[in-house]
Amino acid sequence: MDLDFAGGAPPPDAGYAPAPPRARASQYATAAEALRTVYGYDAFRGDQAAIVNQVIDGGDAIVLMPTGGGKSVTYQVPALVRPGTGLIVSPLIALMHDQVDALRANGVQAAYLNSTQSASERSAVERAYVAGELDLIYVAPERLSSPATRALLQRGSLSVIAIDEAHCVAQWGHDFRPDYLALGDLAEVFPGVPRMALTATATRATHQEITERLSLGDARHFVSSFDRPNIQYRIDAKAEPRRQLVDFIRSQPEGSAGIVYALSRKAVEQTAEALAKQGIDALPYHAGLPAEVRQRNQSRFLREDGVVMVATIAFGMGIDKPDVRFVAHIDLPKSVEGYYQETGRAGRDGEPSVVWMAYGLGDVVQQRRLIDQGDGDRAHKMRQQRHLDAMLALCETVQCRRQNLLGYFGEQSAPCGNCDTCLTPPETWDGLVAAQKLLSTIVRLKRERNQAFGAGHLIDILRGASTDRIRQYRHDELSTYGLGADLSDADWRSVVRQLLARGILVATGEYGTLALGDPAAAVLRGDAPVPLRRDVLGRTGGGSGRAKKASAAADLPDDARELFEELRVWRAGVAREQGVPAYIVFGDATLRALAEHRPSSAAELDGISGIGAKKKDAYGEAVLEVIARG
Ligand code: ADP
Ligand code: ZN
Repeated sequence: MDLDFAGGAPPPDAGYAPAPPRARASQYATAAEALRTVYGYDAFRGDQAAIVNQVIDGGDAIVLMPTGGGKSVTYQVPALVRPGTGLIVSPLIALMHDQVDALRANGVQAAYLNSTQSASERSAVERAYVAGELDLIYVAPERLSSPATRALLQRGSLSVIAIDEAHCVAQWGHDFRPDYLALGDLAEVFPGVPRMALTATATRATHQEITERLSLGDARHFVSSFDRPNIQYRIDAKAEPRRQLVDFIRSQPEGSAGIVYALSRKAVEQTAEALAKQGIDALPYHAGLPAEVRQRNQSRFLREDGVVMVATIAFGMGIDKPDVRFVAHIDLPKSVEGYYQETGRAGRDGEPSVVWMAYGLGDVVQQRRLIDQGDGDRAHKMRQQRHLDAMLALCETVQCRRQNLLGYFGEQSAPCGNCDTCLTPPETWDGLVAAQKLLSTIVRLKRERNQAFGAGHLIDILRGASTDRIRQYRHDELSTYGLGADLSDADWRSVVRQLLARGILVATGEYGTLALGDPAAAVLRGDAPVPLRRDVLGRTGGGSGRAKKASAAADLPDDARELFEELRVWRAGVAREQGVPAYIVFGDATLRALAEHRPSSAAELDGISGIGAKKKDAYGEAVLEVIARG
């Protein structure tokens, strides 16, 4: 104990002997005290209090909570209240850095162990851990599977083990990380330490895999609603994707940060370049770029206002930026889980945000082909196929997007009033005859000539086009030639896309030639209705989010908004000086509260959410000055 030194002279061999292991002392008597003093929040939200109590009492917990729901607090507070150091397993280095920066800004003793550190930095952290000086230590899963790291951790004392992004343990999931499988035996290695698994991925299958593979059979389960009411969902038919994307971005409030997801590296680079030419501050990000370019672009995205990141899905997991105002997809995601997670990166701070996707026939054909030609056994392909089918059903639904999305995660809900189909209900039309024309053309070509073609040529036949290919194959002699001239090329592509989405058509082979799926027979007989969604093009600019004001403050009275902008300028200066993202200094919600309530004394700052003891010390005076001037 510290009393050993109270008498004056240190022990004779001080500085040579290894520090004796000791548990980090408990920093706060109660969870509420930690929440108020460290974070400056007056109350827990939703399930937070129940989760924190379960873990403080020594129990295990599985936490399913959407992005922005407030998961971090649920493991950080138990780590501060229980004696010992909290071990956080986190898959991404960027995430660790952000979290540790944010914790330190709140006066918490947090550190990480990862490959970006020099040997001496690492051993300083290790020494601090063994000496019981750390509240929290963040470690990557691959490091945790090494015997040396485990031996180190056993030399100190753990208060809680939290496995973040726990869905990475799900073998068929979109973020599978083999190192997560090795986390199953932590219960044996660290007996008596409560364990938590946390994720924003909500499917039943993933939930079950987490429970089993992480040996959390005795854990209490905390499943929050997965609704993100501040996110508006929009999905448009793809016509001219580039122009649609530019229109969408321009329709967003000025200075909005956003992410644009594309499937390939090439698409990422071309799109970023095209946006930059349009005067949009866009940067590319994919795994093929040199590390320093990736690093630079990511840090600009995190630190500056209004940068648009064009990226493959390699970007985003572990990006904690709370004020991403929009997410756009210009290619179809492979699953609803992936889509939900990628779009979930918008609006973590709870402020209004929009997610938009452009989706077309080519996407369906391409995704089906990728599955066909991909690796893996039949069962694996069937699983991928089911994922894609659910994604397509979301794209083609004539009902509320959010209802469909939440329904996929097993949650019932009413129409939301904040998605494109709620805001502008789509028209439907009877597509039976059109479908029959198309299907019978395919049947005839197969039966009479043993031929198969892709969508483009089939549409040419139906529209009675006169192309070289039509003449070469004498397809103008077919009985369905010209029978579909009443529909435009775009209409036909929409028909093909929707029939593919429902499995009435299937695309096969390298060229995406079309064949009949199982439900086609009933359609040809006229036994199955074919209601189709009428595509509406060029809607991206519409909707309710047009205000050209910094959105976090758009609804404040004029003088409060001016003060908000002044505080933002002050915050940008501090962030630059300290080399941290602006939100580490204060989040938008805190600036908003300051602008609204105009505290005029240190005591009044206590009432503002997001200002804990450390930040009050560090910035209180400066903030009061900005307010007094404003
Ligand atoms: P998640 O990890 O679940 O995505 P975070 O832990 O990043 O969510 O929290 C999301 C946002 O909500 C953060 O800005 C955080 O500061 C804020 N927050 C979390 N808990 C509370 C609370 N009890 N009161 C006020 N704000 C909170
Ligand atoms: Zn809706």
